[in-house]
Amino acid sequence: MTGLPLFPVTVVGSWARPPWLLDALRQRQAGRITFPEFNEVADKAVLECLKYQEDAGVDIVSDGEQRRDNFYSFVVEKLDGAQLMSLAELMNHVQDKESFDAILRSMDAPAFAIHNTTVVDKVTRREPLALDEYLFLKEHTDRPIKIALPGPYLLTRSMWVKGVSDTAYPTMVSLAADLVEILREELIALRDAGCEFVQFDEPVLTDVMFRPEVKERTFMCASMAAASGDPKAEMVRALRLMNDVTRGIDGVKTGVHICRGNWSRKEEALLNGAYTALLPYVTNYEIDQLVLEYATPRAGEVESFPASNRVQEIGLGVVNPRIDEMETVDYVVDKVEDALHHFKPENIYLNPDCGFGTFAERPMNPPEVAFRKLEVISQAADRLRAKYG
Ligand SMILES: [Zn+2]
Repeated sequence: MTGLPLFPVTVVGSWARPPWLLDALRQRQAGRITFPEFNEVADKAVLECLKYQEDAGVDIVSDGEQRRDNFYSFVVEKLDGAQLMSLAELMNHVQDKESFDAILRSMDAPAFAIHNTTVVDKVTRREPLALDEYLFLKEHTDRPIKIALPGPYLLTRSMWVKGVSDTAYPTMVSLAADLVEILREELIALRDAGCEFVQFDEPVLTDVMFRPEVKERTFMCASMAAASGDPKAEMVRALRLMNDVTRGIDGVKTGVHICRGNWSRKEEALLNGAYTALLPYVTNYEIDQLVLEYATPRAGEVESFPASNRVQEIGLGVVNPRIDEMETVDYVVDKVEDALHHFKPENIYLNPDCGFGTFAERPMNPPEVAFRKLEVISQAADRLRAKYG
């Protein structure tokens, strides 16, 4: 990506969907309209969200994930062998319904609003996952584009549901191999089309690390399947899967986004803890950038990556997408100056902690608030460029 200023301003991905887009989404999910018919409506929403970003001074834009129900379920439109189910429907397949229900409640997770793409047969890529999103956006902007894809670990854990998926794939491991291949093909297709930045979302990793008490059966971003119960083994598994996806693929910037959840505005319902425990694993990803949240106090302070790391860049979370309060330019500048103790100026990208609308039915903040937060980031970037440029 050439021609970017220092401290490029970007987004993590999602943007609140307008009510008329949600109507179309519900019609699509009920099978009353086709995907192309839905896309005609979504095109308009993408353009609105692009304009907000351009006007706010965002250097690397996204399409706001306007075509997606959420950041990983959307693959259902592109894959054969998978089916969309609400968490409420999936509840029928959970052995210990009572404790799962209690988890959802304590985490303020809207079971009826969150849809999970579940494997019901051998999975094949009928069409590219997000290439259509990239190509549409590229037609309408000259700015570099970031496309978010679900990470291979999240995708495997969320799509494999015991009692539903095990006839096609006896274990999660057997499914992972097919999903890695699908993500590799997608990364290559996006690169070949000119996409500048592909971000893999693996928010579930904080759940693995910070909530060992529910490691057997967990909810975070609708990750349903039971893990091994050993957080370190899971981190190693996630590392291998990610590197299997990116290995040997050059010519496109790659990132991994890890946050502590973004489905509730109740900060106390979301996870808490510094990245320290995750860094030895995630800094060994064969990627360019870790996109991390640091605006929420739950994330702790910015810290250096360990000496053995492969990742050079940080996508620094500098505003909280879940609160109305507006961060100040001074606040963002201070955050970046903290990060400058640990990273070179050319390796620091600025973004919100997460998207503004992870789940279609549960936006975190409306476009007007998101716009003003992005404006604050780009004003801070201007000041930093004047000082460090
Ligand atoms: Zn996030």
